[in-house]
Amino acid sequence: MKANNINSKPNEALVEKIKNFRMKTLRKKSKFTKEQLNKPVSFWIKKERLLNEIGKEFTIILRTRGCNWALGETGGCSMCGYIQDANIEDVNSNQIINQFDYSLQNKLDEIENDEYNYVIKLFNSGSFFDESEVNQQARTHIYEKIAEIKKLKEIVVESRVEYITSENLREIRDFLKNKYIEIGIGLQTSDDYIRNNYINKGLVFEDFKKSVQLCKEYGIGIKAYLLFKPPFLNEIGAIDDCENSIKTLINLNINTISINPLNIQKGSLVEHLWYQNRYRPPWFYSLIKCLKKSITQKDLENIRILSAPSGAGTKRGIHNCLKRECNENMMEILRNFVLNQDLKYIEKQYNYCNCKTKYQLKSQYC
Ligand code: SF4
Ligand SMILES: [Zn+2]
Repeated sequence: MKANNINSKPNEALVEKIKNFRMKTLRKKSKFTKEQLNKPVSFWIKKERLLNEIGKEFTIILRTRGCNWALGETGGCSMCGYIQDANIEDVNSNQIINQFDYSLQNKLDEIENDEYNYVIKLFNSGSFFDESEVNQQARTHIYEKIAEIKKLKEIVVESRVEYITSENLREIRDFLKNKYIEIGIGLQTSDDYIRNNYINKGLVFEDFKKSVQLCKEYGIGIKAYLLFKPPFLNEIGAIDDCENSIKTLINLNINTISINPLNIQKGSLVEHLWYQNRYRPPWFYSLIKCLKKSITQKDLENIRILSAPSGAGTKRGIHNCLKRECNENMMEILRNFVLNQDLKYIEKQYNYCNCKTKYQLKSQYC
């Protein structure tokens, strides 16, 4: 089967602005050395919710030439600054292999001797199935290595729908017969208007559904990313948008939803809006409210909800007031909910910080 086409019309005014910021970022960018290209952007191990248990994630961020959507005529998504980590010029398959092997050699002992099971998350701030980012030679090397490690029970890679083809799915399925595979897709919202006019994602919901169907045919799960509080929405709009999206995805029998509260990334259009006081990252209170409204404990028997916000508690990430204790409390609530998949952690009555009153007054406006 052929890859999906991009069926959405770009919002030209938005595209122009995004491209301008992207160009400025690219002009200032320095080249990576050969040594840097043989090592990943980063890698880490931390606790994570696996399908049916608490386990750990082994995450590797590979450095590739970068996301085609961001490098092309559309300039990429309005909140995305990942191009900063990309090489722009080709990164060859040996270098990608070296990046993967370097991370694995570093962590293999820890993984094999750990009491927890693992999910390996292979991210490249673009599309793992895009041949120009990670080619077949690199992909198959990575699959072969992963197949040998028993502790790695689950694998997640990310891709735009254009590259989710029968050939790519068959290949990963064949190499990793005994693993649970999930493909992460940046859906961001179930609303086509918000996704394409505010985020510039270049994806329509119908194409997302086709990819879901195709993955199902190969026994592969879907992890849908939702962006919490896209630009041009206030707190209430963000809660409503995410609630609708979660409910739609539950009805579609998606395996995992990962909710990503927007964080301000360098060189993005959203960063410009933020500097102009036209955007504020979401409040934690809104995220908790949204989760409470959207999910029942019964839903969690069939779907996994993840959320590990980047930059949480800082000005650029999801935050309430900027008191450390206030945000740490919220992170604790969210972490416990995610690890245990149990709503009791967010439904409990907490002694919230005084900023809750300010939030209630401001949430319609910012
Ligand atoms: S969010 Fe994903 S698809 Fe959009 S520009 Fe960034 S890497 Fe590309
Ligand atoms: Zn507070």
